[in-house]
Amino acid sequence: MKRPAAKTAIRKAFPRVSLCPPWLILCLCFFIAVAGATATAARAENAPLPHIDATRAFQYTREVTAFGPRYMGNENHKKLERYIVDHLKGDQVEDDAFTADTVEGKFAVRNIIAKFPGTKDGIIVILGHYDTNYPLRNIGYVGANDGGSSTAILLEFANQLRVAPGKKRDGYSVWLVWTDGEEAVRKWSDTDSLYGTRHLAERWEKDGTLKKIKALMVMDMIGDADLDILRDSNGTPWLLDLIYSAAERLGYQSHFYAMQGPVEDDHLPFVKRGVPSADVIDLDYGYNNVFHHTAQDTIDKLSPKSEEIAGDTIMLTIQMLDQR
Ligand SMILES: [Zn+2]
Repeated sequence: MKRPAAKTAIRKAFPRVSLCPPWLILCLCFFIAVAGATATAARAENAPLPHIDATRAFQYTREVTAFGPRYMGNENHKKLERYIVDHLKGDQVEDDAFTADTVEGKFAVRNIIAKFPGTKDGIIVILGHYDTNYPLRNIGYVGANDGGSSTAILLEFANQLRVAPGKKRDGYSVWLVWTDGEEAVRKWSDTDSLYGTRHLAERWEKDGTLKKIKALMVMDMIGDADLDILRDSNGTPWLLDLIYSAAERLGYQSHFYAMQGPVEDDHLPFVKRGVPSADVIDLDYGYNNVFHHTAQDTIDKLSPKSEEIAGDTIMLTIQMLDQR
C-alpha cells in the first residue's frame, strides 16, 4: 500500500533569544497565514476540483438496474441501448456494431461511443460495460454494480464533459465508450469474454486511433457502498499512480489500492497493444466478494458516495492528464 507523501514542514528560524518584540512576531505570523491562504485560494480558483452530481449518477444506476437482466441479445439490453443514446442527444455518437460468434451462438454486439472533442492533440478514453452476465440470465440477476454502476457513471461523465455547442473542451478529446459483451457467455476465457473491446481495440489499431490515446481507463463495479478500488497489476504503473494522486488530492486515498492483484477486464485488449491503461474496479464486493455475479448484486448494496469518490477521482485524473 502506497502511503501519502510526507508533507514538507515549514520552519521559521527565529533566534532563540528573540530580538523581535512579541507583537512583531504575531504580526509576521498573521501576515504569513493570510499570504498562504490567499495563495491556496488562487491555486484552487485556477483549477477547481471536479465534482460530479452523485445524486444524478445514482438515479441513473437505479433506472438502469430497473430494466432488469440486460444480457446480450435480450429485449432489456435493447431498451438500455436506447436509454443510453437518448441521454446523449446533441453529442457526437458513434456505434461500433458487429456480430460475435460465440459458444452460445451469434450475438449482435454494440459498443456506443460518445466523443467530446478537445483543444489538445490526443484522446483520453473511458470505458464501462453495460451488458449484464449472460450465464446468470435465468436467476433474475440485475447487475446493479456489475453493469449498472459503470453505465451510470459514464452517463454522468458525459454531463460533466459536455460544453457549449460548437465549442471544444479545454484539454484532450475524451471518448466515452459503453462497451458490450464484456461478460463471458459460458465460462471466462481469452476467447469467451471482452467481445466488444477485443473488436474495438482491433479496429482502432487498424485505423490508427490507438496511437493517439494518451490514457485509457475502465470503470467497473464502482458503486459498492464499501468502496475499495484494487490496484490492478495488469495496469500501467504511471497511470495507476496518477489516479492515486488524484484520489489523494480529494482526500479519497483510503478507498484506493489497499489490495492489489491482476484483473482481467475491458482494458486488456488495449494493454496488449501497448496503450497506457487502468482498470478502476472494486473486486471486493461484499465480504470475500460474495455479491459478485450473484442475484445479490442489487441496488441496496450501492451508495451515491462511492460513485462520487470514483467519479470525482477520474474526472480529476482527466484534468491532471490535460495539464501534463
Ligand atoms: Zn461481471
